[in-house]
Amino acid sequence: MSTPATEQPIEYSADESFAERMDQQDPLHAYRERFEIPQKHGRDSVYLCGNSLGLQPKTARQYVEEELDAWRDLAVDAHFGKEPSWYAYHEVFRDTGARLVGAKPGAGEVVMMNSLTVNLHLMMVSFFQPRGRRTKILMEAPAFPSDTYAVQSHLKTMWMDPAEHLIVVEPPGGSHTVTTEQIEAVLKERGDEIALILLGGVNFFTGQVLDMPAITAMGHAHGCTVGFDLAHAAGNIPMHLHDWGVDFAAWCSYKYLNSGPGAVAGVFIHEKHATNTNLNELPRYGGWWGNDPAKRFRMHLEPNFEPVPSAESWQLSNPPILAMAPLRASLEIFDEVGMATLRRKSLMLTGYLRWLVEREPDDRFEIITPAEEDAHGCQLSILVHDQPRQRFKALEEAGVIGDFREPNVIRVAPTPLYNTFHEVWRFARTLSGLS
Ligand SMILES: *Cc1c(COP(=O)(O)O)cnc(C)c1O
Repeated sequence: MSTPATEQPIEYSADESFAERMDQQDPLHAYRERFEIPQKHGRDSVYLCGNSLGLQPKTARQYVEEELDAWRDLAVDAHFGKEPSWYAYHEVFRDTGARLVGAKPGAGEVVMMNSLTVNLHLMMVSFFQPRGRRTKILMEAPAFPSDTYAVQSHLKTMWMDPAEHLIVVEPPGGSHTVTTEQIEAVLKERGDEIALILLGGVNFFTGQVLDMPAITAMGHAHGCTVGFDLAHAAGNIPMHLHDWGVDFAAWCSYKYLNSGPGAVAGVFIHEKHATNTNLNELPRYGGWWGNDPAKRFRMHLEPNFEPVPSAESWQLSNPPILAMAPLRASLEIFDEVGMATLRRKSLMLTGYLRWLVEREPDDRFEIITPAEEDAHGCQLSILVHDQPRQRFKALEEAGVIGDFREPNVIRVAPTPLYNTFHEVWRFARTLSGLS
C-alpha cells in the first residue's frame, strides 16, 4: 500500500519535554483550535475516542445554523435560491469525498447518503448476485456486529441460510488478526463458491489495516466481487479505491470523520459499475434522488426510473440537509490538510504511543494492533494483563476519554487533527501509573 513513510525514524524519548517539543514542531498543531475539546475536571480532556465519535469542528454549528436560517428565510426557495442549494447539496461532497478515499476525480464514484448499515444493505442489493455454484459471502472475524447482522439478515431476505452461505475467516489460534495468506487460502479452496467478499478495511477491534489492494486483486482473480466496510478507515488512512479496483465501499462519518452522531455516511462505487445504468445488469433500489436530476421534479410525467450514471443513482430520498451541514464542515478540513499529511503525523503520534506502552516492564500490556506501518492506522488496542479495570478507571479520573472492551482491551486512537504528543504522553504515564 502506498502510504507515505515517516521521513526519518524518530528517536522517541519518555521525557515530557520531548512531547512538548514534538507539539511545537508539529505543522498541524493549530488544527486542534478548529475543534471543540470536551472538558473534564475543569480542563481539556485527553480525548482518544475519535475512532468511536470524532470531535465537533467549530464550523459545524455555523453551517447547521446557516441551513436553519435558510429554512426560516427562504423555505421552499432554498432548494434553488442559495449556494449550496438544497437541490444539489449532496454535490458539494463530490470532489472532497473522492479525494478522501482515492476515487477517480470527476467520475461520480462517491456519494454521501443514509447511514452505514443501510448502505451495506443497499450495496448487497446490487453487488451480491448469487449465481449457480457462486452463492456465498466471505467475511472476517471479528467483524463489527452490525455488519454480521446485515449480511445474515440480507441472506435471509433472499431465502438463503447464513449457516450455509456465509464463510467467516477467523484469526489463527492465539492471534487476533486475520492474514492475507489466510484469505488467499480460502479463495484457493473455495473461490468459485464466493460471490462477494465483504471485509472491514480497518478492523474495529484490533485496528488492523487489511491489504486492500492485494485482497481485491486476489478476489477478482477468483471471480468474486470485492467490497469494504471503511467505517474505521475513512479519515484514518490514505486509500486509492479507484486504482485498487475495489468494486464498492461504505463508511460512516461520525468516527474519524468528525461529522456528528449518526452523521450522513458515504459510499464508493467503482466507475465501471457507477456508470452502468442498466438495471437488468446491475439492479438497485430506486428513488427520486437517484433519478436523472433533469427529470427529478417532473413527478407524475416520468413513470420510469432513469438512474443518473454515477454513484448518486443509489440515493433514494432527498438528503437530510441539517445532518449534512456538519459533514460539509468536517470534509472541508480533511480536504484542506489532505490524507497524506494527516497520515504522516498519525504515524508519528501512534508510533510514539506504541513506543511508550511497549517500554513498560513485565508484559503488563500487549498491543494487538499490528506494528507494521502498512497494517495500522491511528488506533492501538491494548490488552491489559494486569488490573485492566482499575487502570481504565485511573485513566478516566485523569481526564482521559478512551474505550474499554470487556474483559481487558483498552482501545485508544490519537487522531492527527486534534490530538497532541503531550496527550499521548499523559495517557501513557497514567496507564502505567498503578503498580
Ligand atoms: C461503526 C461501525 C458500524 C456502525 O454502523 P451504523 O449503521 O452507522 O450505526 C458498522 N460497521 C462497522 C465496521 C463500524 O465500525
